[in-house]
Amino acid sequence: MCGIVGAAARRDIVPMMIEGLRRLEYRGYDSCGVATVGEGKLSRVRSVARVADLAAQVSKQKLAAETGIAHTRWATHGAPVTKNAHQMVSRDEIAVVHNGIIENFRELRDKLGQKGTKFGSETDTEVVAHLVSDELSQGKAPAAAVDSALKQLRGAFALAFLFSGEDDLLIGARRGSPLAIGYGKGEMYLGSD
Ligand code: GLU
Repeated sequence: MCGIVGAAARRDIVPMMIEGLRRLEYRGYDSCGVATVGEGKLSRVRSVARVADLAAQVSKQKLAAETGIAHTRWATHGAPVTKNAHQMVSRDEIAVVHNGIIENFRELRDKLGQKGTKFGSETDTEVVAHLVSDELSQGKAPAAAVDSALKQLRGAFALAFLFSGEDDLLIGARRGSPLAIGYGKGEMYLGSD
């Protein structure tokens, strides 16, 4: 199990998230990524190299935002290649990072596949993004959509979500895996370490 860092603040949190990933490197990982939401849009940068490489890509792209999630991955489902690196997205409206294993992912993937969902990765994590998207399309608000999706999952996990059009929203969830919440002055954090 690797690491999650999340933050929602009133300043650019990308440098803090990169520093958070650096501090999680000791746990081992095979890929890493950062996603942000700003001006209503999700952005993400992923790397199958080290956090230093991710940091270089982030600064080249001038990624800056007040809300974001970052991840180091230790692959359990799907090879350590870019398409499997977190964040997983669904319809450019949800970004999710995940530590742990979704035990019933095969059955959920088949069910979503029958509804026409196309998958861009081999991970167990991607089903979570699509499940939440499916709940949103039924008219639920993001927190209610996550809540309904969580009820369908088996396994141990820590998850963090961003939503397009929701620049101030960071949702975290855990079952059996660690995920701590940090309350700051006008700033909120998530961390799995
Ligand atoms: N099971 C997920 C994957 O293979 C998450 C692995 C992790 O905890 O980093 O992508």
